[in-house]
Amino acid sequence: MESPLAISENLQKILSYLPEGVELVAVSKFQPVDAIKAAYDAGQRIFGESRVQELLEKIPLLPADISWHFIGHLQSNKVKALIGKPALIQSVDSEKLLGIINDESAKKDVVTNILLQVHVAKEETKFGFSPEELLRFVKEKHYCNLGNINICGLMAMATNTDDTERVRKDFEMVADLFREVSAEIKPVYPDFNTLSMGMSGDWPLAVEEGANLVRVGSAIFGSRY
Ligand SMILES: *Cc1c(COP(=O)(O)O)cnc(C)c1O
Repeated sequence: MESPLAISENLQKILSYLPEGVELVAVSKFQPVDAIKAAYDAGQRIFGESRVQELLEKIPLLPADISWHFIGHLQSNKVKALIGKPALIQSVDSEKLLGIINDESAKKDVVTNILLQVHVAKEETKFGFSPEELLRFVKEKHYCNLGNINICGLMAMATNTDDTERVRKDFEMVADLFREVSAEIKPVYPDFNTLSMGMSGDWPLAVEEGANLVRVGSAIFGSRY
């Protein structure tokens, strides 16, 4: 792993560039517990993990005041084990998954904070609601019978490319969707405030386009093993 000093310096540098009101998720997937501890000791409190098993193993080894975000593709059969652990599930990529999270949350008598993941990237492999699906979901008020879900905003990834104009357009599209969905959904979900976009390679662009939560991994922790 990177040295604790390097992790701390990487973190401080990114934080110094983030405007007020923009929060940082340190994406710690595949990173050892000691790397997370180094970031924690430097003041970081929000960490992102992409696998249920890995998250469940790490939680008891680290301080209890960490706010864990789940950011990976979530399989239906893993939902039950996950509910109640993360502060936010950012990667809800289908209505079916939303329904399962709602049911499992009801069984545990909790309300689960989630973001809806939108797919705008020009890649086949990424998960999420297409813009059309998202707007239909909202217009047809499919969100109304989810008593154990708190929809807090949107999450998206841009196309993985060096073409910054392409990346900017992706973020712009998500920001437009965010405003549109927000106008409809706020009366039911007043916490719909979070726009999560931007990773190590593109977070400055995402912030310019209105992101208020960025998910940065390798630029803090170095490469993943
Ligand atoms: C891994 C991951 C990140 C962080 O990626 P980096 O390029 O290492 O910053 C952000 N968001 C999601 C959804 C991820 O899976």
